[in-house]
Order: sequence, then C-alpha cells, then structure tokens
Amino acid sequence: MDTLTTRRKFLSRSALTAASLASLSPVSGAEEGNQQPQFKSPGKPVIITRETGDATVAEAYAMLLQGADTLDAALHVCAGRENDPNDHSVGYGGLPNEDGVVELDASVMHGPTRRAGAVGACQNIRHAGLLAKKVMERSSHVMMVGEGAERFAIAEGFKKEDLFTNDARKIWLLWKENGRGWWGPGIDSPDWKPPVDTPKGAIPKAALMPRHPAPDQAEMVLSEMKRLTALADRMGIPSNLHREAVREILWPTTGTIHVSTLNAAGEMSGATTTSGLAWKIPGRLGDSPIIGAGCYTDQDIGSAGATGNGEENIKVAGAHTIIDMMRQGASPKEAGMEALRRIARNYNNDMTRLRYLDMIYYILRRDGAYAGVSLWSTRGIGSQKKFVIHDGTLRTEPCDYLFEGTTLSIHPF
Ligand code: ASP
Repeated sequence: MDTLTTRRKFLSRSALTAASLASLSPVSGAEEGNQQPQFKSPGKPVIITRETGDATVAEAYAMLLQGADTLDAALHVCAGRENDPNDHSVGYGGLPNEDGVVELDASVMHGPTRRAGAVGACQNIRHAGLLAKKVMERSSHVMMVGEGAERFAIAEGFKKEDLFTNDARKIWLLWKENGRGWWGPGIDSPDWKPPVDTPKGAIPKAALMPRHPAPDQAEMVLSEMKRLTALADRMGIPSNLHREAVREILWPTTGTIHVSTLNAAGEMSGATTTSGLAWKIPGRLGDSPIIGAGCYTDQDIGSAGATGNGEENIKVAGAHTIIDMMRQGASPKEAGMEALRRIARNYNNDMTRLRYLDMIYYILRRDGAYAGVSLWSTRGIGSQKKFVIHDGTLRTEPCDYLFEGTTLSIHPF
C-alpha cells in the first residue's frame, strides 16, 4: 500500500471515529448530566491536611478567600513543612536514605486545568512540591526523577542546597548504630516473619479482630524506647533530640504531608510532599510521587491523598480508588474505608502482618464533604490518629479507622 493510500485510509478512519464519538458522547461530561454525580460546591473554601504545627493552613485559607489558586494554597502549606528543619519527614531536615542522602518525592494535581506533575528521588532541592508544579507547568512531562529532576530544577531557578541537617544526621547515625534496614523479604513476602524478638503471645487472638481493643503494647514499647534513648545518650545525641530520634527508629514511616484544597468557585487541587520512608534503599520511590496513589484530584469529584506505608498504597492506587468510589456515590468515609479494606485484603486480612502497616487518607469531596481515615486508630503509645480541616473554622478531628489498635514498629523489639 502506498503512503497516500495509507494516509487516506487513516484519515477516513479518524473522521469516522470522530463522527461516532460526537454522536455518542455528551457535549461536556459531568455538566451535561451523564452518570457522574454532580457535586455542587459549598461556596466557601475547604482545606484538608495533617497537623502542621504552624500558621500555614490558616494562611492558605486566607489566600483562597482572596482568590488565590487552589494549588498555590496547597503548596503554601507544603512549603511550611518543607522549610521546617524539625519536621524530619519532609523537605529540609528530612530523614535520609540508608546512605545518608535526602531524596524527596512529591506530586501535585491542578483540578481547573486537569494537569499533574511529580518528582521522585530528587536530591538537593528543598521545595519538591513546587518542583512538581514546575514539571507540570514548564515541561511536556508529568514525572521526573533523580538527577534529571534536579537539573531541571536548577535550570528553572531553584536553589541547590544540602538538605541533610545536623539533627537528621544524628538520628541517622542512631539508626545505623541500631543496625536494621529494609533489605530482605518485604512484609508482603511469604518469607517474611514477624520481628523475632516480639514476645510470643503479645497479641491476644481476640485483639487481632477488627474493632477489638488493641493489646497493651505499652510495656514492650517503653522498654525499647528506654534502650534506644540510652544508646542515643551514649552516642552524644543531645537530649532534646532523643524523643524524635527514637520514634523515627521505631516507626520510620511517619510524616509526609498531603493537602487538598477547594475554593468558593468549586475549583480543587491536591499536593503531597515527603522525604519518604526513612532509611529507604537509595532510589526507592513511595506512593507520594505517584499520581493516583499519594495524590489524586478530579475536578468533578474531589481530591484525596495519603500518608503511611507507600508500598501498600501503590498496590491499591489509593487516592484514585477513593475518587472513583466517590464518583460511584460513596461518601468520603466509605470511599476511604474501601481503600483501607483493599490493603487488608492484599494480606488476606492477616493481622500479624497488618499490625505493622500504617495508612491515613485525607479526602475532600467537591461539595465540601470530607473524611480522614486510618488503618489503625492510634499511633505510638495510644495517641489517636488525627487530621486537620478548615472550612471557615480551623480544627483537628480524629480519623475514622478500620482497626482499633496501634501500628507496631516494623523494626523489631
Ligand atoms: N507515604 C510515604 C512513603 O511511603 C511515607 C509516609 O507517609 O510516612 O514514602
């Protein structure tokens, strides 16, 4: 077949396709009343995120009231955490990979223009969230990683800086001294075994069932905290860092920030930024830079994001699953619970494994309905998992949860 004939065939096929599509599709999707539910904006801004300990959520709300873009408002909150050297889960001061190198991940979605951007394993650039937005705006790509992402950032005027603070280095040294990493079979492997020195019978059978009270782990946790605190002391780590350092050794996957925003006009955006799982193997990417896992926004439906064990969230495409459940009529809470149930299902509801996993979803529907849901009810020695909501009143609310109890440390007692 000559080129002209091929081209003619192609053109007539595309014309046919275009014609049939035109006759089949409603003119503009949700607005024309197809099966998608119509979520009417509440006519005021709403922000959902985690506790930040700073003024950025209130500031972002004021920005939205003054007409700022929803993604800019979300990234304002992210930047607060990225700038804080005492937040060891995000940006400057974030905990490094096992080699002592800080690698940041982030993703953003901009509802009004239905665009996305993401960066992964990016070194030396503090504002990974802003960089993800830059990828969205200033390249034809959605996701950039590693050295290429860093070079792109520098070309776009971002400052190159050492993100590994002295405090983060001390915590890393404590982790190295303690000597346990992420190599070997993962928790989803048939070869995985619960930490060898977990006292037998520490988890009574009844307590492994959803909604039953957690076993009292306090004694075990406290004795391990004591041991690590003494080790930190012997290593000359200043006492004001002990608590944080010990927590990061016992529960390495805490932190990250996700922010979903809605303005009075009903526009939505989402952003997630993190230094990722502490002590990760270099090059590891979690869920935070994955569009559909750590962050997903659909301008017609809502916006959602996650913090917790990224590997689990990637496998259930958490944020996208939640948005799609809401598209089919689920409430934010029901949608979040379904994503959590899918994580549990991936383990055949095996509680001896699920006890070591952590997940929180932050969910905002376009009509202003919201939910924060977590796999387990509490963290550490029993403090309730929470999220922050601002819909005119800034407040912290407890998460709804799938299982009652506390996530155990993956690093053996
Ligand atoms: N989701 C992040 C990751 O897996 C970590 C976290 O949220 O704690 O990299």
